[in-house]
Amino acid sequence: MNIHEYQGKAILKEFGAPVSAGRAVFSVDEAEAAAKELGGPLWVVKSQIHAGGRGKGKFKEAEAGEKGGVRLAKSVDEVKTFVGQMLGNTLVTIQTGPAGKQVNRIYIEDGSDIESEFYLSALVDRSTGRVAFVVSTEGGMDIEDVAHKTPEKIHTFSVDPATGVMPHHGRTVAQALGLTGDLAKQAGQLITNLYAAFVAKDMAMLEINPLIVTKDGQLKCLDAKISFDSNALYRHPDVVALRDVTEEDEKEIEASKYDLAYIALDGTIGCMVNGAGLAMATLDIIKLYGEEPANFLDVGGGASEEKVTAAFKIITSDPNVKGILVNIFGGIMKCDVIARGVIAAVKAVGLEVPLVVRLEGTNVEEGKTIIRESGLNVIPADDLDDAAQKIVAAVKGTR
Ligand code: GDP
Ligand code: MG
Repeated sequence: MNIHEYQGKAILKEFGAPVSAGRAVFSVDEAEAAAKELGGPLWVVKSQIHAGGRGKGKFKEAEAGEKGGVRLAKSVDEVKTFVGQMLGNTLVTIQTGPAGKQVNRIYIEDGSDIESEFYLSALVDRSTGRVAFVVSTEGGMDIEDVAHKTPEKIHTFSVDPATGVMPHHGRTVAQALGLTGDLAKQAGQLITNLYAAFVAKDMAMLEINPLIVTKDGQLKCLDAKISFDSNALYRHPDVVALRDVTEEDEKEIEASKYDLAYIALDGTIGCMVNGAGLAMATLDIIKLYGEEPANFLDVGGGASEEKVTAAFKIITSDPNVKGILVNIFGGIMKCDVIARGVIAAVKAVGLEVPLVVRLEGTNVEEGKTIIRESGLNVIPADDLDDAAQKIVAAVKGTR
């Protein structure tokens, strides 16, 4: 689960990490009050969306002006102008995709005078089973680019959960960032605090880009991107309360209610598959035959008829879906259950696009009979290759 920058900064502050004073606002009036309260003389007006790259992003609407989603304002009037331009408009960044995201909240922050910008993040390193830190002098940049072009500028280390952050970790960070004296001390304190926040809140990722040194010699977290481990949310009601469902894909929210592993994609072929490995293979083979999948969907091992029906409804609610491929290997899952779920769903929501069904495994004959006798216009397939070719041909034929 992701949260907004301003929510992330509130958590960092709670754990003693240095952030600027700021206020989240939903209207120009609120922005004016916030700007006056903060006092200036420099304010940062920051679009709050669940995506990075806002500073370099562009609004779709001309009324939003030429500047990006993060703007420096030098007067209360300028704050009001920027907030008026951003609110309700669509910001497109390298992370939002071409559709962009509507800006509904703005964070007004005390502006900082920047001496230097760094990159710092923490994440769970699955190979060591520890929290790992990534630090780089290349702040404010796309870290993937830095990793690609100048990997020597990226330093990583992991923290032993038995000891937590040790003084030597602080020295490693200070050295990597070229910090000495008091700033080196601040770096040690910062990662101690960030590590404590990370562990206490069951974060999956915490990214500070940029981490800055101000002109008056203070380290500060100027941006904060935090995501949480969804499997641990049950023990953090305070974190769950920060969820902004308007930032999430509606189909993914619906899928999460039924405990379906669903991810929306950009293509035209809706897929209902059981098992993540088979789902991945299905996406691959659709691409191999020249089409693009509309989603990843793993209905799981022991899906009920109700779950299958919900999955089918989610797939058909996507207007981009021009054909559906059901690909089930019945191991724990039984083919007749899938067949009944599909029929129930088709009866409930109708079927306006071609549907290819490939069933194999437990109760396969029963499943095939149910589909055959349903009178529905289903294209049966024998194996994965056959199924993929049939759905691609059917989709191409309907265009
Ligand atoms: P992102 O573009 O979504 O990653 O948003 P950031 O919060 O990282 O802001 C983008 C850029 O705006 C930063 O990299 C900074 O260069 C600049 N910026 C943000 N806050 C301040 C500030 O307080 N003072 C100054 N001078 N620049 C800022
Ligand atoms: Mg940033």
